[in-house]
Amino acid sequence: MKLEISPSGRAACRGCKKPIPKGEVRFAESYTMPGSDTVAYRYFHTACAVTKMATELKQAIEAYEGELPERETLLAAIANAPKKTGKDRPLPHADRAPTSRARCTQCGEPIEKGTLRIGVQRDAEPGSFTRGPSYMHVGCGRAWARDSDLDETEWVEKVVENSAFEADETARLREEITPA
Ligand SMILES: [Zn+2]
Ligand SMILES: [Zn+2]
Repeated sequence: MKLEISPSGRAACRGCKKPIPKGEVRFAESYTMPGSDTVAYRYFHTACAVTKMATELKQAIEAYEGELPERETLLAAIANAPKKTGKDRPLPHADRAPTSRARCTQCGEPIEKGTLRIGVQRDAEPGSFTRGPSYMHVGCGRAWARDSDLDETEWVEKVVENSAFEADETARLREEITPA
């Protein structure tokens, strides 16, 4: 992932399909061609990358040392871009409880609306058709990982990685998940 100056006007944006003008700063996403080791790039207008891949674009902007007049505008747009919902992220991951209805799978107490919670893959219960994650308090996470015979440290890292939070939110998550 990087920003670069478009060397020609030939590449089309993956977001809107329109060409990216020569000389414009574009977002280049690297990917491996299916079935081979060849690394190729696909390109986006910076504005189109905001909606498609906000997190990656932010990293690319922070790493870009060239002139970027719309830097502030883009960063503001990224901050306001809708976050990926929990459904798009692999489990386990943390998010904020949208209601107070779910009970913690570890301690059985309700998880209060708005608090950080961790979602894990639910065990397939015989005769149950319920799919989707089970949730627990962030503070109950370590105990749950221990009871499930998981490597706690690895598991915590996985939760942090899958949660894709902003830095301050990640710090809070780590703090709550790791008892002082
Ligand atoms: Zn575009
Ligand atoms: Zn709990």
